[in-house]
Amino acid sequence: MSNYDIIIIGAGPAGSMAAITAAKKGLSVALIDRRNRIGYPKQCAEGINKNIFSLVGLKKQDEWISNKIDSLIGGTPGKGKLYLKAKRSEGYILERKVFDPALSEIAESCGANLITGTEVLSINKERVKLKNKTLNTKAIIAANGPSGSVARMIGAEVVKNGIGLQYEIKAKSEFPHSLQAYFGLNVINPGWAWIFPKADTLNVGIGSFKMMNLKSHLDKFVKNVGVKGKIVETNGGLIPLHGPIKEIVHKNVLFIGDAAGHTNPVSGGGIPAAMYDGKLASEILAEELLEKKPNFKRYEQEWEKSIFGSSMKKSLKVQKLYLDSLNKGYFDKFFGNFEFEEVTKRSDLLRILKKAPNLKILTRFAHMGKLFAKPYEYAW
Ligand SMILES: Cc1cc2nc3c(=O)[nH]c(=O)nc-3n(C[C@H](O)[C@H](O)[C@H](O)COP(=O)(O)OP(=O)(O)OC[C@H]3O[C@@H](n4cnc5c(N)ncnc54)[C@H](O)[C@@H]3O)c2cc1C
Repeated sequence: MSNYDIIIIGAGPAGSMAAITAAKKGLSVALIDRRNRIGYPKQCAEGINKNIFSLVGLKKQDEWISNKIDSLIGGTPGKGKLYLKAKRSEGYILERKVFDPALSEIAESCGANLITGTEVLSINKERVKLKNKTLNTKAIIAANGPSGSVARMIGAEVVKNGIGLQYEIKAKSEFPHSLQAYFGLNVINPGWAWIFPKADTLNVGIGSFKMMNLKSHLDKFVKNVGVKGKIVETNGGLIPLHGPIKEIVHKNVLFIGDAAGHTNPVSGGGIPAAMYDGKLASEILAEELLEKKPNFKRYEQEWEKSIFGSSMKKSLKVQKLYLDSLNKGYFDKFFGNFEFEEVTKRSDLLRILKKAPNLKILTRFAHMGKLFAKPYEYAW
């Protein structure tokens, strides 16, 4: 006898979106998180492409949004910057301390049982052990983020992580509606850095594809880009930057979001994939739980075919080219060739690519841009 049709472990964007979808479909759902307060601490630069809300059928609320984004700036501190204004650069900087709890509250209002301050300790087939009790379920959604806790419980592959460190600084950007991304040997290798403008603060951070202490790199970056202001918060965390785990379905356990390694391996953006996965996994569970022999593997198959599945393959290729270009100093050479260039139409891009110091760098960057165009529509 099941307490619940499904138990969802983790009430981040992935788990809450799964709970909303499953509860709306009439399933009995427990949404469990070890945090006492959902969304705290924040471990995110909070950038999100605007397309994701319509893709998952969620009505965006004004209070979730700190700032609107209309453009992307890419460059190297103190040298060249490219300013890209296009439809696919439109998005938002969320307020995750508002957004994450709001999603879990929507899940509750749809009928899910939200249990906070409670860690899932182990899983044994259809039994989920908490500190003081054991719950029964038909299926489990692992939405536990990058920590790998659920994978370890069931002997599944654990996601491979990079790492990010960030200051939230009370300061204004000279580009108040642009995401700024910085690359080059002078920034970090292997990694990248960013400045994401919020309403009254900036998320200034640095990410690395391998585990390392980022504090000195971040301090140097803040100095080099000339951001001055009071640090109001320091945060950071693991980022799954090395692609999905091989099997995202293990018997009755479905991995979604960061727990599946679905974060974009170029940008580190994982909120869109997390929300998409949550919806997809619960839709499939709602159908399969009606069957005598449920086929949970359908989630894996449908994900592979999805916009995020196909984008992941392209993004992993871009990551390889990005790391190689970084090592060879291509970004420093390229951005060293100009100061500030606007790209608002295709012909601008061709003009600027011609500023590449040689044909090799030109074709490399053109190829990377083409490969990343689709993933970039949803996952940054
Ligand atoms: C520095 C940094 C900057 C980032 N910037 C961006 C950005 O700008 N845009 C973007 O899209 N993404 C960004 N990301 C990535 C983004 O934060 C994640 O991809 C996103 O939060 C994934 O959502 P999720 O629901 O899968 O996991 P999470 O948000 O990590 O939620 C997992 C939840 O599971 C809970 N949990 C874990 N184990 C257990 C357990 N055993 N029992 C109970 N509960 C458990 C945790 O408490 C947590 O609340 C950034 C990440 C970092 C570290």
